[in-house]
Amino acid sequence: MTSRGRPSCVNINGRIVPPEAATVSIFDRGFLYGDSVYEVIRTYRGVPFELEAHLTRLEASAKLIGMRLPVPLAQIATEVHATHAASGHADSYIRIVVTRGAGEIGLDPSLAVDPLRIVIAQPLKAPDAAVYENGVTIALVSVRRNLRAAIDPAAKTGNYLNSVMAMGEAKERGAFEAIMLDHRDFVTEGASSNIFAVIGGVVLTPPLDAGILEGVTRATVMKVARKAGMSMLEVPLTEPALKQAHEVFITSSIREVVPIVKVDDTVIGDGKPGATTQRIRALFAEYVASYVASHRK
Ligand code: PMP
Repeated sequence: MTSRGRPSCVNINGRIVPPEAATVSIFDRGFLYGDSVYEVIRTYRGVPFELEAHLTRLEASAKLIGMRLPVPLAQIATEVHATHAASGHADSYIRIVVTRGAGEIGLDPSLAVDPLRIVIAQPLKAPDAAVYENGVTIALVSVRRNLRAAIDPAAKTGNYLNSVMAMGEAKERGAFEAIMLDHRDFVTEGASSNIFAVIGGVVLTPPLDAGILEGVTRATVMKVARKAGMSMLEVPLTEPALKQAHEVFITSSIREVVPIVKVDDTVIGDGKPGATTQRIRALFAEYVASYVASHRK
């Protein structure tokens, strides 16, 4: 129950338990069907960044799969703070998981009783500095993003096989992240990130109706870039447009803003992190610093 040899701190249904005692029922629907929702949050100097936005998305994910959260969001927030504090880590990777619970085996969601909520705090393992200095490669994988009318990608559910398979393919191809197209060949998002392209000074990203997760980092990047006067548009992106872009970057809570210098075998720009991406990284860092300063107790 440790991550890469480092201790985790686990909270189950409001009780902090030693990682080795953190076990759940094999009848839990999260285990049986991926019938759960989750969030991943990064803390900075003890402050869970954009906790409110993550909790709002947790609630939205639950709604999209017809699940009622067993406790108010404020209680989950309290449990996040308590788990992080008990972990003793300066900077944590925090995972919140809520499952529909256990019950008689069967697909019918009404069989679920006993909803389960878990908070895990692990020491943060951020990407190496070289990732940001040199940029990385992404792979446009053969696995397609779920249709919105199937498991809507807007819901962050425990059913992550779409992304797991995409990531497996990307890793086989030596890439840092997988990017998935939809059934019409439009670019959607990464296995666990959102994607942006910079073309002629304009920052472009697929709209939410492309069938993507509404990334908290994506929203922050859009906000800070627009505030700084940059042109930012949500538009459908095609594979050729992505490959011809002057700059590409991806965003996620744990990895923040990562410059992409290659899409498959296509070099992006001059093969180095671009000026707009670096500017957005700096704006994001400034925003994080002010968020942390105003949320530190
Ligand atoms: N898309 C997917 C599929 C993800 O799993 C993630 C990671 N949560 C993201 C995008 C990025 O979202 P965020 O910025 O909220 O971490």
